[in-house]
Amino acid sequence: MSIEKSAAEKGRVEPGVLYPVATPIGNLADISQRAIDTLRAVDIIAAEDTRHSQRLLAHLGIGTPLLACHEHNEEKVAGRLVERMRQGESVALISDAGTPLLSDPGYRLVRLAHAHGVRVSPVPGACAAIAALSAAGLPTDRFCFEGFAPAKTAARQKAFAALKDEPRSLVFYVSCHRIVETLADMIDAFGAQRPACLARELSKTFETIRQGALAELLAFVEADENQRKGEIVLVLGGQTQSQSMPGQDAALAILLQELPLKQAVNLAVKLYGGNRNELYKKALAMKDGAT
Ligand code: SAM
Repeated sequence: MSIEKSAAEKGRVEPGVLYPVATPIGNLADISQRAIDTLRAVDIIAAEDTRHSQRLLAHLGIGTPLLACHEHNEEKVAGRLVERMRQGESVALISDAGTPLLSDPGYRLVRLAHAHGVRVSPVPGACAAIAALSAAGLPTDRFCFEGFAPAKTAARQKAFAALKDEPRSLVFYVSCHRIVETLADMIDAFGAQRPACLARELSKTFETIRQGALAELLAFVEADENQRKGEIVLVLGGQTQSQSMPGQDAALAILLQELPLKQAVNLAVKLYGGNRNELYKKALAMKDGAT
């Protein structure tokens, strides 16, 4: 049921504008005053899941009408919403949690709004990726947001393999049902010693922020089933010279004393990550006594 808005409330938004509005990722107190004012003032709220968002709006005492705008109907609904904005209505776009468009619907609506000259004005706020980065203790001056890795094992392993030499920090959204296999695949691609951070249930009661090498994080989630529940972001440090150098050289030298060259190289890559071909050349040189 829609509640009549006062002129002051209406005045908090402009006619004909699309407002992507960030909502909390757990703790309901993390919504901004501007987000509340905007959601109250707009003519309509396009929401990923209207029943889910209705609970947030009820909590905030907001009666603005909701319209479903999700993966399966966005194309169709976007046209209608843009037309309404061209007629002067204001629209807020929200997803179930956090910032819309970030691993959430909304891209097609925002793109269409731009294409029709409709102004788009974001109301920023919570985003799990950014919250995780702010607590991970890993470089944040540059990073890659990878969203969800593929669910199927072979595709996931391929995606990780393609990222193993990426020097920027990597941010992944991970389903709790796949956290163990995801960490195991990451160890294969990035090496057991790659620094990482598990950020789980951010802003909620059972929040976990655990920093460590990938191997430590895998042991941690394997040992405690609670760590395999809830919502998870994994942040990985990027590939750096220091990760692939001193420790790896020493380990490779020891492995070469005990194992055939190819096996020693494979193990060193598994442990430390790095470029297999380069390590192979280095191992050959070590064998020849050239280094
Ligand atoms: N748009 C959202 C945002 O701004 O972060 C992300 C939506 S995506 C469909 C949902 C994923 O985000 C979850 O599977 C999890 O990886 C991550 N996520 C959302 N809330 C989280 C939280 N409170 N703690 C940790 N990860 C969270």
